[in-house]
Amino acid sequence: MGPIYYKTESEIRKIRESSLIVSDTLAEVGKAIKPGVTGLQLDKIAEDYIKSVGAKPAFKGYKGFPGTLCISVNAQVVHGIPGNYPLKEGDIISVDCGVVKDGFYGDSAYTFAVGNINAETAQLLKITKESLYKGIEAARCGNRIGDIGAAVQEYVERYNYGVVRELVGHGIGRNLHESPDVPNYGKRGNGTALKRGMVICIEPMINMGTRNVKQEADGWTMTTSDGKPSAHFEHTIAITDGEAQILTTFGKIENI
Ligand code: MG
Ligand code: MG
Repeated sequence: MGPIYYKTESEIRKIRESSLIVSDTLAEVGKAIKPGVTGLQLDKIAEDYIKSVGAKPAFKGYKGFPGTLCISVNAQVVHGIPGNYPLKEGDIISVDCGVVKDGFYGDSAYTFAVGNINAETAQLLKITKESLYKGIEAARCGNRIGDIGAAVQEYVERYNYGVVRELVGHGIGRNLHESPDVPNYGKRGNGTALKRGMVICIEPMINMGTRNVKQEADGWTMTTSDGKPSAHFEHTIAITDGEAQILTTFGKIENI
């Protein structure tokens, strides 16, 4: 991994601008999610919206990824390629989006329910989202990266959920992925110290069953080994002197 880039206030403002575009994009996508809609249709909504506000999709072309969004349905964990599958009532769909504007990136993900979902899956979504905020609470100046992962892990393991190990959060700024890695598991007091000016993405990927995942033949999609559902929520945050500042928001998504 490369160096950690500590951001100035004005750089953080730019990351916030990109982050809010991501949040608005996810809200636009959320409005369109219903049975019968395909990932490709949602991807077009996202791409059109991002371009309409003068930003660029960050994922499209990244290491050859074909979509503006990563769309991962049910047992798919992350990195799903937008395709022709029509959503069904009872599915869950994880939508991950990144944009770049004025040289700075923002990144966020949200798992949506398609119509009514069963209570067991609804709990997975609720607890995964709550675990993200537990991680953010631990992301304070003076703490360490391991405090974030421990907070997420301890919270979700009470429900016997599996914390994905193969994929982790990351620093962000002039690059989509920067140091440090931000795992969703770990030990308190371990790892890189959190300092003011760090901007990171915390993104728990939590499985209802086993933590083990496998990569699909498309070379991208990660899927749970046991076929049980998985959820993913992500915020871009800045470390300040006190509580972390959350640069993305789920506010608009949840006001649909
Ligand atoms: Mg990310
Ligand atoms: Mg993301």
